[in-house]
Amino acid sequence: TQNNRTLLIAGNWKMNNDVQAAATLADELVAALDGVDNGVEVLVCPPTIDLTTVAAKLDGSAIKLGAQNVYWEAAGAYTGESSCDMLKSAGCTYCIIGHSERRDYFHETDEDQNKKAKALVAAGLVPVFCCGEPLEVREAGTYVEHVVAQVKAGLEGLEIADPAQLVVAYEPIWAIGTGMTATADDAQEVCAAVREALADLFGAELASGIRVLYGGSAKPGNIAELTAKPDVDGALVGGASLKAADFSQMVVKS
Ligand code: PGA
Repeated sequence: TQNNRTLLIAGNWKMNNDVQAAATLADELVAALDGVDNGVEVLVCPPTIDLTTVAAKLDGSAIKLGAQNVYWEAAGAYTGESSCDMLKSAGCTYCIIGHSERRDYFHETDEDQNKKAKALVAAGLVPVFCCGEPLEVREAGTYVEHVVAQVKAGLEGLEIADPAQLVVAYEPIWAIGTGMTATADDAQEVCAAVREALADLFGAELASGIRVLYGGSAKPGNIAELTAKPDVDGALVGGASLKAADFSQMVVKS
């Protein structure tokens, strides 16, 4: 990374860990990262049901808490959903939106992401906005256009005054959970294009401070190479975030 952006290592636990297992993993993470002070920001995003338990465990540590989903309405008859204020009251400062699993399995659209991003920023929460192309688009060679279109549709009209109000995660779908990591050069190419799209949306100065993460089979063995790239400001980590030893190694090696 460059431009003094603070690296961010973010764990996406997905639908793993019941309340008891989440408490144990949070304790292990706090212990594993105790005394690690290399300037890397650390975030964990447990399932909604685990948030308050994990928040209590992280209390007093520097590890931040995020949710994996949010609904943009303030309150009311939206069975099964959680609002921005509810996430805040549970201790969250971040929320993942637009993950490919939400887009694919739950049919979420770019317009949904746009509403979520605006609601989060208005509530003072930081969206971790995910984007990324499927394998066919990678093979067709149009992945940069695909990702730039997702970024523009998802974030258009969003108003931010500080680069810390937004994080973007580039996650090529073919690399998620497959063990097939994009090369560091692949990650750099698209993260740089994302930053250019952010410059079109928010101006070059804000864009130069917004963190752009890579995600997709990021692990202890490849994190240093990824974060060495000028436009890769950390990682959104699935599988490797479920083991305290692996996740803390990634923080140390970034
Ligand atoms: P993975 O998942 O690290 O298991 O590939 C990343 C993600 O989907 O955020």
